[in-house]
Amino acid sequence: MADIAVILPDGSERLVPQGSTVRDVAAGIGSRLAKAALAGTVDGAEVDLNVPVAAGSNVSIITADSDAGRHVLRHSTAHVLAQAVVQLFPGAQFSIGPAIEDGFYYDFELPGGRTFSEDDLEAITARMREIIKADQPFVRSEVAATDALSLFASQKYKCEIIERVSSGSGDGDDSGEVGDGGTISVYRNTDEFVDLCRGPHVPSTGRLGYFALQKVAGAYWRGNEKGPMLQRIYGTAWESDAALKEHLHRLEEAAKRDHRRLANELDLLSFPTALGGGLAVWHPKGAIARKLMEDYSRQRHMDGGYQFVYTPHLANANLFETSGHLGFYADGMYPPMEMDNGTYYMKPMNCPMHCLIFDSRQRSYRELPLRLFELGNVYRYERAGTLHGLMRIRGFTQDDSHIFCTEEQLSDEIASLLDFVMSVLRRFGFTDFTANLSTKDPQKYVGSDDMWEKATVALAAALAKYGLEYKIKEGDAAFYGPKIDIDVRDAIGRKWQLSTIQLDFNQPERFKLEYIAPDGSRKRPVMLHRALFGSVERFFGVLLEHYAGAFPTWLSPVQVKVLPVASAHSEYAHTVVSALRKQGFRAEIVDSDEQLGKRIRTAKVDKVPYVLVVGDDDVAAGTVGVNPRGGEVERGVTVDAFIARIAADVAEGLTGGE
Ligand SMILES: [Zn+2]
Ligand SMILES: [Zn+2]
Repeated sequence: MADIAVILPDGSERLVPQGSTVRDVAAGIGSRLAKAALAGTVDGAEVDLNVPVAAGSNVSIITADSDAGRHVLRHSTAHVLAQAVVQLFPGAQFSIGPAIEDGFYYDFELPGGRTFSEDDLEAITARMREIIKADQPFVRSEVAATDALSLFASQKYKCEIIERVSSGSGDGDDSGEVGDGGTISVYRNTDEFVDLCRGPHVPSTGRLGYFALQKVAGAYWRGNEKGPMLQRIYGTAWESDAALKEHLHRLEEAAKRDHRRLANELDLLSFPTALGGGLAVWHPKGAIARKLMEDYSRQRHMDGGYQFVYTPHLANANLFETSGHLGFYADGMYPPMEMDNGTYYMKPMNCPMHCLIFDSRQRSYRELPLRLFELGNVYRYERAGTLHGLMRIRGFTQDDSHIFCTEEQLSDEIASLLDFVMSVLRRFGFTDFTANLSTKDPQKYVGSDDMWEKATVALAAALAKYGLEYKIKEGDAAFYGPKIDIDVRDAIGRKWQLSTIQLDFNQPERFKLEYIAPDGSRKRPVMLHRALFGSVERFFGVLLEHYAGAFPTWLSPVQVKVLPVASAHSEYAHTVVSALRKQGFRAEIVDSDEQLGKRIRTAKVDKVPYVLVVGDDDVAAGTVGVNPRGGEVERGVTVDAFIARIAADVAEGLTGGE
């Protein structure tokens, strides 16, 4: 048979015999690749390994150690989960089982309303291992809707999906189950188990195995609160035992670092039920750390040429009509308040008010770029079920800035913004940055193509200039402008999206903002939204988890605890504390009514950076014993030498974490 040429990801051509499959292409490249292959892509569509390739098609191989490969692994493991549940619980209904970030889930309904227990998860895991050991092949076939309905006659949720899709009313929720074109495909791995699925899958169950079932949670069918409540089993699956163990370890670490738990243990803040969901009160210690964070931000903004403004928490509905928020953001806003002179809303964003400040008088090109900055409180509606400590909260403070500039100033402004953002984040111990660049959705945008092009180029150039690794999210921008999102990696490798630099061609238009150009003409400024911490509250939560509660000295609510060995040393301890306070350090005395060892332990639990112990020798020599967090004890340090040391530590600012 004649050979055909396919195109590999590097652009090279490869000749393979006609009738070759994706697996054959992999084998032709190398036996290792063939062994590692789980699935492939042909002209951008993910397919099983046994799919034949056509002449001229673009072929790539999906291996287990890639995001796409893990996705296939996870989804295939979800099938095995469903198979095990159906075997162990006759009559179980299974609905959908997609891969998600780091894992997968599957939703079930057990006969008689029975619920899964912890023991059930063990039994299901054991059965899954048997299925994996049996190395059953995943065999794909395509069927007509009527055949699919009879195949799944005893599975009401599957029938619902088939009916919805075949009547043309399928949506995103169904997309894991059936292909885009409405083709109904099924995967069978034994006579007894078949699942509705678009694929692709690993070739056989033997390719799976590094998984763990994690928990059971309730989930409404299709997310509809009026629909039936199903039981969702969550699991995680990886390409190797090492990767699985690493992930489970990361989860353990994350649980230890849970900011809600640390906030409580360290007496930083709380979420009283009497206050209502998604709202926090800051205790004195949390408030100190937050104030330091905010002060640092204010100082940097001052140095960076920003002008500070304040705006109120609520505004007349007309303002949000003008800004467009009531048109495109009403779901994120709280219900209106009817007042004597009109309808008011809590503000979900500060931008409209900053536009009013720009528009409060005539502006000249000489004033641009005009950088307005506010620690602005906003209120956004979040569903009760989605609230999560400080990470998802209903009332929060944005370190929000809006920059009005000319089109010509845009590139320089974006470049310096990126520099500014990363330099501020570094102070908080973040060094590993990545970014996403969201570009124009060709179906939905305002502003000229030329403007979008220029802005997108400027954003990309700024990212390149700082050597920032970034992904382009094609078509993912909001209709009003392209944006950069900056992610940081924390101490245990998790990614957090923090800062955003977003262009806006819409609001200047809606507010009819203008400045007088050098030639006397009136021009429209470009507007940039920039949040650096994002939300101060969420940033604080991220910091708490990043540092595991052990804030660097400059941010620590209490920097030094001074412990007199006995009451005879108390007076001297007081002089040490006042010497430190005089230099601006946050020092406390812990008097001798408890044993020294116990007091030292308590100070360590509180994650205080420095514990100073003073006894007879210290009183005589004017020294202290220094017991630093995570360091070696040093005796006989003069008070001046200690002050120099802590001052250097504060200036350097990088000693936090465990
Ligand atoms: Zn599937
Ligand atoms: Zn804004």
